[in-house]
Amino acid sequence: MESKLPHVGTSIFSKMTALANQHGALNLSQGFPEFDAPERLKLRLTQHVQAGMNQYAPSPGMPALQQQIALLAERKYGAQVDAAAQVTVTAGATEALFVAIQTLVRPGDEVIVFDPAYDSYAPAIELAGGRSVHIALRSPDYRIDWQQVAAAVTTKTRGIIINTPHNPSAKTLKAADMAALKALVAEHDLYVISDEVYEHITFDAQPHLSALRDPTLAARAMVVASFGKTFHCTGWKLGYCIAPEALTSEFRKIHQYVTFSCFTPAQLALADMLNEEPEHVDALADFYQHKRDLLIEALQSSRFTILPSEGSYFLLLDYSAISSLDDVGFCDYLVEAIGVAAIPLSVFYADGSSDKVIRLCFAKEDNTLLEAAKRLCQL
Ligand code: PMP
Ligand code: GLN
Repeated sequence: MESKLPHVGTSIFSKMTALANQHGALNLSQGFPEFDAPERLKLRLTQHVQAGMNQYAPSPGMPALQQQIALLAERKYGAQVDAAAQVTVTAGATEALFVAIQTLVRPGDEVIVFDPAYDSYAPAIELAGGRSVHIALRSPDYRIDWQQVAAAVTTKTRGIIINTPHNPSAKTLKAADMAALKALVAEHDLYVISDEVYEHITFDAQPHLSALRDPTLAARAMVVASFGKTFHCTGWKLGYCIAPEALTSEFRKIHQYVTFSCFTPAQLALADMLNEEPEHVDALADFYQHKRDLLIEALQSSRFTILPSEGSYFLLLDYSAISSLDDVGFCDYLVEAIGVAAIPLSVFYADGSSDKVIRLCFAKEDNTLLEAAKRLCQL
């Protein structure tokens, strides 16, 4: 049978984690926290399980969680979100992205994607019969040239996928980016899929510029978020999409045939957590900024060039002063030679190009970060 995704293999995240396990290496590759979810969240989950909340949730999500999500969007971004009409709880951001793409993209449509790009965007566009149009952003600043974006828009362009804070570059979009995006979207009648899974992890007191902050942009946007990143529970695979009512009703038609609904007791536990401990979300940026700074400080004596990390839990290192290997080869070498697993940047580019840059995930215990840095400083 002919493959529907002939270019797709096993994800780099699975590959590097398997390699890390095989070599007993420190795993700074796949992005997931080494520490546990908050105690209250785990307690509430078990309580809802024990209380018998173990049957299907309504397909769009448990109302208590939809409500808390809408309140969070209002508290953080001043957005007026109708919980019942605009919020859909999904199996992680991955499902939200997939369904948002199936909602918007028709055969022949083009979607603008910025490389380095998260790995799930392009296959989802391809499965919808669309074509991803890749615009490569480059080290060290990964800046978007909005004139280049405007030049890439054609009559077939349906939308643009943005991701801020960005995986893997750790850059955030600024007010000028959002203004340029808004102008482009209005001029060409486009939609935006805004991947904001690291929304609560921005550094140096910078605000997160959600597409939800601007009602005009929000009217054209499907905003995707992930509880896995915010509550250190990537294994729960819960996230959501906030979109205008008309788009949400199309989104839900697809969502109900992908999963129908998501894990009921965990939805209730997350609603409790948002309601009872809002300070968890507010403390997340400082929590990760400490880890970013610890890692950067510990790498000062290394021969890597450290690129700025403005948000997310990633840090990029340029290794061109250390090795002439390509980045995939360099990451293989790192695991084997010093027992540190990282992700090569070239896998995030449609054309596989590389600037001799690797990604480290610093959602790890301080001791893990210090030990990894010590090993990296030996090179
Ligand atoms: N988008 C980005 C940019 C991500 O980094 C991730 C997770 N690594 C996801 C989406 C998927 O999130 P989830 O685990 O909630 O499906
Ligand atoms: N998003 C995570 C990362 O960037 C990995 C998620 C996954 O393994 N699919 O590392």
